[in-house]
Amino acid sequence: MKTIGILGGMSWESSSIYYQLINERVKETLGGHHSAKCVLFSVDFQPIKDLQHEGRWEEATERLVDSVKSIEKAGADFLIIGTNTMHKIADEIEATTSIPLLHIADMTGEEIKNRGLKRLGLLATKFTMEQDFYKGRLQTNSNLDIIVPDEQDRNTVHDIIYDELCLGKVKEASKQKYLDITNKLIHEGAEGIILGCTEITMLVKESDIQVPVFDTTKIHAIKAADYAMNHFVLNR
Ligand code: GLU
Repeated sequence: MKTIGILGGMSWESSSIYYQLINERVKETLGGHHSAKCVLFSVDFQPIKDLQHEGRWEEATERLVDSVKSIEKAGADFLIIGTNTMHKIADEIEATTSIPLLHIADMTGEEIKNRGLKRLGLLATKFTMEQDFYKGRLQTNSNLDIIVPDEQDRNTVHDIIYDELCLGKVKEASKQKYLDITNKLIHEGAEGIILGCTEITMLVKESDIQVPVFDTTKIHAIKAADYAMNHFVLNR
């Protein structure tokens, strides 16, 4: 079994879900007392969040590159970054490490393609919904059309992520807002919805939405466990 390197803490709420899902997958697959071999580097999120919101991505990159070096030194065979947003700097991270990266957008794109869907609605942070690093990758690598909420709704989705979910607050009123925004995306032709932020799984469940839901936390964690158990090879 390979050792999984998890760059986490962004936020720790979602990292704890990753840890649980990865271990459950290994236990379900291998049985007995099997569990995942993994190294978790959990950063202090406050300075990273500040740097993101101030647009100081290079400094955020420097910090995360250091953490990835520690993960590599601790014996990880491959890396997952437990946040969609920080995949903005995935290329820079990949360039500084010799272990492969299991990219969250590629893993999600593969699942969507397997379901035969083309037009997807994306709920995520504003960074992920508005910039090209994620949508562009899904378009280029997985040939998908990605639609996002309007500006006001993007602000709502973003604020709920940082002001509530990353702090472990799960509110019924916020869930309703997410479902209303989701319904608008479905009305605009979304055949499925990507939960493109690793905390949204705390708020919205697949059964809440009438089209297929792609929960990136779940997809990424399961792919990491499967890759660790040598169930597939990476096309790089
Ligand atoms: N975990 C979130 C994501 O998947 C947001 C927190 C962050 O900025 O990393 O995008």
